[in-house]
Amino acid sequence: MQVAARDHGSKNRSGIVGYELRVVSYLFKLKGLKMRKFKVLLLVVALSVFIVSQYALSTEFWGSVKSNIYHYPHCEWAQKINPQNLIKFSSPKEAKSKGYRACKVCGPPED
Ligand SMILES: [Zn+2]
Repeated sequence: MQVAARDHGSKNRSGIVGYELRVVSYLFKLKGLKMRKFKVLLLVVALSVFIVSQYALSTEFWGSVKSNIYHYPHCEWAQKINPQNLIKFSSPKEAKSKGYRACKVCGPPED
């Protein structure tokens, strides 16, 4: 009886340990998944901040020597400028001082 009881107890204990191990491994998996999601999210946020900052910091404006309009480099009209006619300005002020005006399509800043 005593041996049987002890056996029963140890079985119970190992059962609890096994359950705990399963819970712990489940939690670890869950944590790992969350961390992975978090890392992906962090990467996406970092990437978008980088792209936005690239746009924000790109203070370059493009114009053509054959026109008097200056554009953001990504403007469809800026893209059509022949590289031979391309003139770059570091600021709208510079473009204006050379007699250029802001494009109405891409709307670069006036100053
Ligand atoms: Zn434009």
